[in-house]
Amino acid sequence: MTSTVAPIIVTDPRTGETYGEVPASTAADTQRAFTAARNAQAAWVTTPLKERSKIMLRFHDLVLEHQDELLDVIQAETGKNRASAFDEVLDVAITARHYARRAQRLLRPRRAKGALPVLTRTLVDHSPKGVVGIISPWNYPLTLSISDAIPALLAGNAVVLKPDSQTPFTALLGVHLLVEAGLPLELFQVVTGSGAVVGTEIAQQADYLMFTGSTATGRQLAAIAGERLIDFSAELGGKNPMIVAPDADLNRAAADAVRACFSNTGQLCVSIERIYVHEAIAESFTERFVAATQALRIGGGGWTEDVGSMISPAQVDSAIAMIDDALNRGARLLTGGTRLPELGESYLSPTILTDVPEDAQLYREEVFGPVVYMETVASLEEAVRKANDTEYGLNAAVLAAPYTGWNIALHLHAGSVNINEGFAATFGSVDAPMGGWKASGAGRRHADGGLLKYTESRTISEQRLVPIAGPKGLARDKYAALMTTALRLGKWVL
Ligand code: NAP
Repeated sequence: MTSTVAPIIVTDPRTGETYGEVPASTAADTQRAFTAARNAQAAWVTTPLKERSKIMLRFHDLVLEHQDELLDVIQAETGKNRASAFDEVLDVAITARHYARRAQRLLRPRRAKGALPVLTRTLVDHSPKGVVGIISPWNYPLTLSISDAIPALLAGNAVVLKPDSQTPFTALLGVHLLVEAGLPLELFQVVTGSGAVVGTEIAQQADYLMFTGSTATGRQLAAIAGERLIDFSAELGGKNPMIVAPDADLNRAAADAVRACFSNTGQLCVSIERIYVHEAIAESFTERFVAATQALRIGGGGWTEDVGSMISPAQVDSAIAMIDDALNRGARLLTGGTRLPELGESYLSPTILTDVPEDAQLYREEVFGPVVYMETVASLEEAVRKANDTEYGLNAAVLAAPYTGWNIALHLHAGSVNINEGFAATFGSVDAPMGGWKASGAGRRHADGGLLKYTESRTISEQRLVPIAGPKGLARDKYAALMTTALRLGKWVL
């Protein structure tokens, strides 16, 4: 990829040192990538699905084999702790295996009920969209760049990906492993550069647009997709609630809540940022939750650390500004809220607030950092009402005995609800859809729809023996009477 503008410098947030640089590509570079991808796709679509699936299963093995290299790059670009980085390796391997096995069944032509039983023979088949554009954020640079590409490629598409400018090397290593597994080199194009330039051009060129990022950018891209009448999937932000019921198992609740709030340093779209705890257990839960949070080991090095750095000093500044705003308006700090300069410029201590007033910015807005606030509620009805009182609807969690948990789950307005887990139970269930209600998104990833969205369906019907309009010579009133009888009978038979 050639470029005339200054390169993008990628920084290791743990040390502030330069990790590498990539080209700041232009709109013309992006157009060239689409041309190359289109040419490669024309050959790829003729590659038997069995062969495509084999490549993905080889990729699955390579990801596991090369996990140390992947973890090192992910950590160097994001500063996250190694265990959070490993979640990405797991996700990519699970997704590759799932769709490699499932694609055959999803993509083979399917018989559908015809307009007239026996007389109409109907088949549905699926063709790839062509070139899928993917724009991904920095918080899960492997998962959100590669896992969303896997079903697109299996369905016969080419992909043009723009990774976030802060984390391009993870995506490049992921694509390198795909090519090592046998994917044609030109089929998966990575174009580094700014969202405003490269991202906009991808939205202008793609046959399908898969975006993960902020709701603000999602709205801009939705406007382009709407204008072009291309299908579009957007996985956006959240302000995810957790409800702690009186029958929650207090021996595990604090640990569950800690993982739900502070995994990936809270920079997780499905992370919990609000906790509604029933008054019957508020004191004991809060005490345990604060203690467990204070016990977290912080650092971006090895397997023993629980929480890493944030992505950048700017992201710490943004979180601190929201914490200060809440404190100035009367909120109370239960723990955290401080920078950790002894570790580095991008570290923030995991933070729990309470008594947050409604006019505080973080009451409704996503912090996207290790910051959560707690509220005590008098009933589960109040908890559900508060949980649903948001413009978002991405994820929710309930800590409760199973019966209570399932009961509450059915009243929560969110694309995923986890019982006695924060987010991983639903996100890891790749056979089920993942995505947001309301301002948290449009469309879904995972499940059958997560592959079929990258295809155009084609319905083919053959009319046999008798025309739909009835046999030759049949008067219209007789035809109407015949059809009326057929419909009445069909209600019981078909
Ligand atoms: P962002 O600013 O929207 O950036 C995400 C990606 O979009 C980056 O690659 C960025 O490129 C690009 N971009 C920015 N402006 C663009 C434009 N005008 N046109 C085209 N592309 C553009 O998001 P972020 O704040 O970095 O990411 C965090 C957000 O993502 C949070 O709100 C989080 O909740 C959400 N998220 C959602 C999910 C989910 O599955 N629902 C998963 C992860 C994250 P550059 O930055 O390189 O310019």
